[in-house]
Amino acid sequence: MIRRKLLAAAAIAVAGTLTLTACSGSGDDSTGDGGDKTITFMFRGGPDEKAAYEAAIAKFTEDTGTKVKVIVTDADQYATKLQASVAGNNVPDVFYIEQASLQSYVASGVLMDITDQVDASGVDLSNIWEYGVNSYRFDGTTQGTPDGALYGLPKDVGPFSFGYNKTMLEAAGIPLPDKDTPLTWDEFVAISKQLTVDKNGDGTLDQWGTGLNVQWNLQSMVWSNGGDWTNEDHTEVTVDTPEFAEALQKFADLTNVEKVTPSASDAATLDTYQRWMAGEIGFFPVGPWDVSVYNDLDFDYDLIPWPTVGDAGTATWLGSLGIGVSATSKYPEDAVKLVTYLSADADAQQTLVDANIQIPNLIDVAEAWAAEEGAEPANRQEFLDIAQDYGRAMPAAFTYGAEWYDELWTNIQPVLDGKQTAADYLKETQPKMQTLLDESIANAEQAG
Ligand code: CA
Repeated sequence: MIRRKLLAAAAIAVAGTLTLTACSGSGDDSTGDGGDKTITFMFRGGPDEKAAYEAAIAKFTEDTGTKVKVIVTDADQYATKLQASVAGNNVPDVFYIEQASLQSYVASGVLMDITDQVDASGVDLSNIWEYGVNSYRFDGTTQGTPDGALYGLPKDVGPFSFGYNKTMLEAAGIPLPDKDTPLTWDEFVAISKQLTVDKNGDGTLDQWGTGLNVQWNLQSMVWSNGGDWTNEDHTEVTVDTPEFAEALQKFADLTNVEKVTPSASDAATLDTYQRWMAGEIGFFPVGPWDVSVYNDLDFDYDLIPWPTVGDAGTATWLGSLGIGVSATSKYPEDAVKLVTYLSADADAQQTLVDANIQIPNLIDVAEAWAAEEGAEPANRQEFLDIAQDYGRAMPAAFTYGAEWYDELWTNIQPVLDGKQTAADYLKETQPKMQTLLDESIANAEQAG
């Protein structure tokens, strides 16, 4: 469930590298029978996102006269459906792109270089999160650099924040964590132990300190301990280090040693995302895409910086999804106009932000939004701090495909179950990841 939620908004690609070649044509559906201009826009999202985007697009059509045919998919169907449209020479004029897919879509000629058109549009790129814009820049060798050609604009940036159940902490008489000072790991574990209780006295626990997911939460722990997945230029895998191992071990220990999370069997009956929403979990991650749902829950919550495992400072990841244009669009000008409208028009942004599905793309709009009185969550500023200051790209965001990264999760279960040490596991897994990373680098060179 949480994986699905994350995919809906911000996550990295898990699909394989593309070997498909784009051909001509944006498809029969993209031209109306009467000769009216119609462009197609393919995206993904849940009901809230779909409604918000349809409202924004209706306004675009009203303003420009350009009709937009919308194709929306579930989050986990999107990559497959987009690949099928590429294979069928039926690429939508405008579509969401994942950071980790960008290089292969550029290499196979699917994505249009929109640098000049965006420049000419008058959009003030300096008022959009720099990380978001740079995510879709590629200079032929490196993605994410400020000098690369632009192959899309950000649909959003997705700061992955941390939250706590304020109502639960207050009921337990626990002082609320400071929004500006991260909890140390020991402090976090100590509070989590206080919160892990059998409230109704039937002999089984019904409230827990936390309940995290290794695939989405380990990054913060490793980074705050000074570890990382690779070296800076993404050529060497560096998971077999004491800093990385300590972080992964502490993750597993939350369940097996500290016992502050639901057990495997508790989590099987109701996953931790559902238990958090039921008010049974004290600390839990919060992304902007969760806010529309979390604001309707029966308890109050707020955002805080992630607890720190070591002394490298609080850390978390910052995702992004982009919006790109087909290199074979029959209406490239209108297609780019839709991209700049969705990414950077103040009215369109307001529609999307009012739906509580993302933080504003425009920095001045975001600052006003964070300062709103009565905002929920109150500390919206934490999202902005992640977007502006301390959020980091996912380890595979700018590599050519993510297989090397996915390999870490493949056989990790014995570590999570306390049957293998983190250090042993990482020692045996690093060479496998390195082989896959080497392959990805070779593929990138071949494609380039
Ligand atoms: Ca109980």
